[in-house]
Amino acid sequence: MSLPPATLTFLGAVGTVTGSRYLLEVSGRRYLIECGLFQGPEAVERRNWEPFPVDARSLDAVVLSHAHIDHSGYLPRLTALGLRAPVFCTEGTALLLGILLPDAGRIQEEDARFAAAHADREGIGPTDPLYTEEDARRALARLRPAAIGAWVVIDDLVSLRFRRAGHILGSAIVELRVDTGNGPQTLVFSGDLGGYQRDVMRDPETVEAADVLVVESTYGDRTQDRSHLREELAAIVHETAARGGVLVIPAFAVGRTQDILYLLRELEDAGRIPALPVFVDSPMATDATEIYCLHHADHNLRVDL
Ligand SMILES: [Zn+2]
Repeated sequence: MSLPPATLTFLGAVGTVTGSRYLLEVSGRRYLIECGLFQGPEAVERRNWEPFPVDARSLDAVVLSHAHIDHSGYLPRLTALGLRAPVFCTEGTALLLGILLPDAGRIQEEDARFAAAHADREGIGPTDPLYTEEDARRALARLRPAAIGAWVVIDDLVSLRFRRAGHILGSAIVELRVDTGNGPQTLVFSGDLGGYQRDVMRDPETVEAADVLVVESTYGDRTQDRSHLREELAAIVHETAARGGVLVIPAFAVGRTQDILYLLRELEDAGRIPALPVFVDSPMATDATEIYCLHHADHNLRVDL
């Protein structure tokens, strides 16, 4: 029986916004694009425990668009299941994964310890960790960082190019040139996309052509109005400072925290808000900010250290 030349199977991020995973099969070879963790309500997170639909040892390559855990956080589990394939990502993504994946492993271990100590409670989660910090470190050893813009030959059937996505440091659109047996085809996976003319991140690059386009659409149904962003933030800071309060801003550690730090400093430099102490209560966000400072290629900022 002859194999179909190429098939694409959606293994996650369908009906929910996390757990991005796409399986591309070409002439019997297997490539996993994105390796995300399901995150959110318990029913969604439980999907991380479902058997992976193919043998992890049978994968020929994994490609990651960026470091956020809903696109990368299943990689240590896949490593624990026997992954032997190389994992392609950008240099910025590899740097960020160096802090994000071991941290995710520690959280899995802590959650499992908590569950084991309270195993008699109803609705308590699994008492084994999905993966450990050690699994995460072994996953990091599989990373093959590649420069944005350069074609990388994965094997004789598939080549890969990362294009800047403007979402977070290292984030990329994944462009695959695939020999399907019916001539070359270009598959494009958008990953998470940033906007244009942002303060911190450079604009997403234009991808000229695709035979198949898989595009994220989490915020695809709304128009973002950023025109009053500075006025609104300045007003909130003033109002809080005037009554001697403390402004607590919940923010994702990678991406959002750096945007907010930049805006606060810009407003302060322009004399639009008072100079107040700013604390980042997250070792991970602090580490990620340092990586932003060291890795200039993806953002607009000039950093004098
Ligand atoms: Zn993301």
